[in-house]
Amino acid sequence: MKIDSICVRGAKDLNDRTGAVAIPIYQTATFAHPGVGESTGYDYARVQNPTREPLERLVASLENGRECCAFASGMAAMDALMWLIPPGGRMLATSDLYGGSVRLFSELAPRAGLNVEYLDTNDLELVRSRLGPDLKAVFVETPSNPMMHVTDLRALREAVGPEILIIADNTFLTPCLMRPLDLGADVAIHSGTKYLGGHNDTLAGFIVTDDQAIADRLRFITKTVGTGLAPFDSFLMIRGIKTLHLRMERAQANALRIALWLKGHPKVRKVFYPGLPEHPGHEISSRQASGFGAMISFEVDSAQTAEKALQGVKFILYAESLGGVDTLITYPILQTHSDVPQEKREELGITDRLLRLSVGVESAEDLLADLELALS
Ligand SMILES: *Cc1c(COP(=O)(O)O)cnc(C)c1O
Repeated sequence: MKIDSICVRGAKDLNDRTGAVAIPIYQTATFAHPGVGESTGYDYARVQNPTREPLERLVASLENGRECCAFASGMAAMDALMWLIPPGGRMLATSDLYGGSVRLFSELAPRAGLNVEYLDTNDLELVRSRLGPDLKAVFVETPSNPMMHVTDLRALREAVGPEILIIADNTFLTPCLMRPLDLGADVAIHSGTKYLGGHNDTLAGFIVTDDQAIADRLRFITKTVGTGLAPFDSFLMIRGIKTLHLRMERAQANALRIALWLKGHPKVRKVFYPGLPEHPGHEISSRQASGFGAMISFEVDSAQTAEKALQGVKFILYAESLGGVDTLITYPILQTHSDVPQEKREELGITDRLLRLSVGVESAEDLLADLELALS
């Protein structure tokens, strides 16, 4: 099946005898055994449940991977990742990451014996200079959050060799636009809360891999700590993914129009969107992805303009998160990246003039009219 068809029809109820078209919500915590020492394949819902299982297979096939584990949130998935790296190990990470990932890496990872160093993961010479026996993994967001830096995954794989684990956060582009495993990554990770779910109503996270040992380890973690996705939330994810391809198409068409419009606005100083030909990651994106996504960051002329814009939007919602059908505007400095130290924020360009848009699937005219009003 092509990916559009996988979105719609890729989830299969593995236990169906009714012909139900939607995957049922198996809202049960435990499962009766047919006989002593026998199992239906399900024993206790923390380990696996029959609504999560088809979702995991669906997301694995979307990412063209063999195995997928579904988690209660993107951060639960991120946390599980830390346990894949032996204590004393070092990991390189893209310098501007989702703020929650930075919080995890700085506050919790060191306690698990994992040291994270930030750099431009597309500067291959710099990456090579940091290789060493303790370097175990490279964590990449491409495009990154919120500065939209692009990393060439194939080139990164060549630069670090086959032994280093490459983990790609594919939340921004989704498998409809890019498949990191096909580009040399070992692991693709998602906040399913964003585009996969797509409706700003459910938290979820996913890890996809071809590596059986990694998948076994992740299953051991969800079984042990109970961070697997609940049946109802699994149902909502399956339902959301049915329209993923359509939403991505529409959202990125809207995003390109808005990026071009912002570029021409007198109060806008800079627009960060890989779909613009002058974006430094435009060419790499064109090679490794089939689209540029629908996330835009932009810098306005003053902090006052930024605050007025946030107060001035009437249709667009001023809210954290991204990837849903509703267009959201975010102030990274106060929201997603508030836990990143100010000095580091400044260095990255996350200033009081930076705004981030998650463009949804509404009418582009209504979105532009609202931005016009908010910036005037
Ligand atoms: C939102 C997000 C996360 C965290 O996911 P949650 O589902 O909110 O826990 C991680 N990485 C990126 C890129 C995100 O946008």
